[in-house]
Amino acid sequence: MTVYLFDFDGTLVDSTQAVEKALRLAIEKTVPAVIESDLYDEYYKALFLFIKGRLTYRHLGVIHELVAQGTIHEYYSLMPRFIRDFPHARRVVRKLRRRGRTVISFSGEHTYPGGKVLFLKKTGWYDEFDEIITFKGTRDMLQKFGTVRELYPDCPVVWIDDSPSRFTYILDENALLVQKASPYKSDVALLFERDNFVKITSLRELLEIDDSLMEFGDGTGHQCTGSQ
Ligand SMILES: [Mg+2]
Repeated sequence: MTVYLFDFDGTLVDSTQAVEKALRLAIEKTVPAVIESDLYDEYYKALFLFIKGRLTYRHLGVIHELVAQGTIHEYYSLMPRFIRDFPHARRVVRKLRRRGRTVISFSGEHTYPGGKVLFLKKTGWYDEFDEIITFKGTRDMLQKFGTVRELYPDCPVVWIDDSPSRFTYILDENALLVQKASPYKSDVALLFERDNFVKITSLRELLEIDDSLMEFGDGTGHQCTGSQ
């Protein structure tokens, strides 16, 4: 049976708008004096870098202030509330599970450990999956992908992600790599030369992909085993 790996941010939900909105509001609520001043851009940038885990010493002073005023805390409580599902996201995930597919959340960890699971819970996505896997960097991602492959050695794996750069590391030929089109991510030209790569604009297309994988499976009589 086919195993589906779903990235979260940018694939199932639109979090970019949510991040921008929450950053702005968190600053507005906790350091209102900054909003109208020249400092706003610096505060916004520092907070953004902190959230992305890319803070450098240059912004350390501002971050101290953002911690002291509770801005970072405010950001994390606001952000999940602004996250919106992409069209068809929940319907497609539910349908795949009803068809008996194994559907796994496979996404990068947030700045702090356990943050992703918290977001999945706050957005009501946690229970939509058979399993939740989060990873830190690329090396960790590849290791965890390897674990999935060990658990389901013969199953076709369909991996849906809005970051195609992640796919460049994957040489598994029994994996279909699906890029969910995003206005924030650029294509990787080399991937389009691969037989096991496809780019989609709507999550709805996954149901057709699933149908065709099923036909293919039936045609060859190929069995795939998984240890659940
Ligand atoms: Mg993503």
